[in-house]
Amino acid sequence: MVQAKIRLCVDQPLAPGQSVALTEAQAHYLFGVMREGLGSPARVFNGRDGEWLAEVIEAGKRKGTLRCLERTRAQAGPPDLWLLFAPVKKARTEFIVEKAVELGVARLVPVTTDYTNAERFRCDKAEAHVREAAEQCGALSLPAVAEPAPLARVLARWDEGRRLLWADEGAAGIGSPREVLASLAPGPSAILIGPEGGFSPAEREGLRTRPFVTPVALGPRILRAETAAVALLALWQAHLGDWTRA
Ligand code: SAM
Repeated sequence: MVQAKIRLCVDQPLAPGQSVALTEAQAHYLFGVMREGLGSPARVFNGRDGEWLAEVIEAGKRKGTLRCLERTRAQAGPPDLWLLFAPVKKARTEFIVEKAVELGVARLVPVTTDYTNAERFRCDKAEAHVREAAEQCGALSLPAVAEPAPLARVLARWDEGRRLLWADEGAAGIGSPREVLASLAPGPSAILIGPEGGFSPAEREGLRTRPFVTPVALGPRILRAETAAVALLALWQAHLGDWTRA
């Protein structure tokens, strides 16, 4: 099998012999930065048709075309896990998005909370980070990025069949994360991470009274939001997600 170090996320359908037009940025990366040319191999995916080995059939300064040769991986999605997070500072929010793609989530849901203190969350920028992270980590699907919405509205419309794991820095006496996660049945899940200022008393009360919410304490120290996101995503994957597979 031909080894291709370049991996690109594309929008077109993928099928045997299908040609795939590169964007200007992809052509620049492939031919200007990576110095690839006609006949070079690349791997492509679009989030729907699996991963394909392709070859360059047209190489220009600002454009290029690939042709699909054979499918190398069947389409597969991440487990049905969502990440709800209050956007924090730009670079830290980008970190959360990138790590969530690497660790495997199906949906990213930015929520505004009483103490959210961040610049405007840009879905288009987040989607670009999702694509980049998916290209780099070998993911086959792209988590959807929801429009930011107030936490109260998201909770009011919640499907109660989806368990919401609330990273609660104020939780006490609820057991270790290992015990909490072991007590849960596999199924649709979500993780909720608060902003730098944590959750307001009203939000805490609202979360405590919802039957679909399970609080989780992540040890005795206060973690930054992005650390808490990575820690709880990893715990969930190890107990209920695709890290449980051999
Ligand atoms: N301002 C809050 C305080 O001082 O108590 C800290 C908020 S923390 C920086 C941001 C978010 O990360 C929290 O709202 C929570 O969701 C999560 N988090 C941080 N440390 C945690 C812990 N030890 N256990 C559970 N969640 C934690």
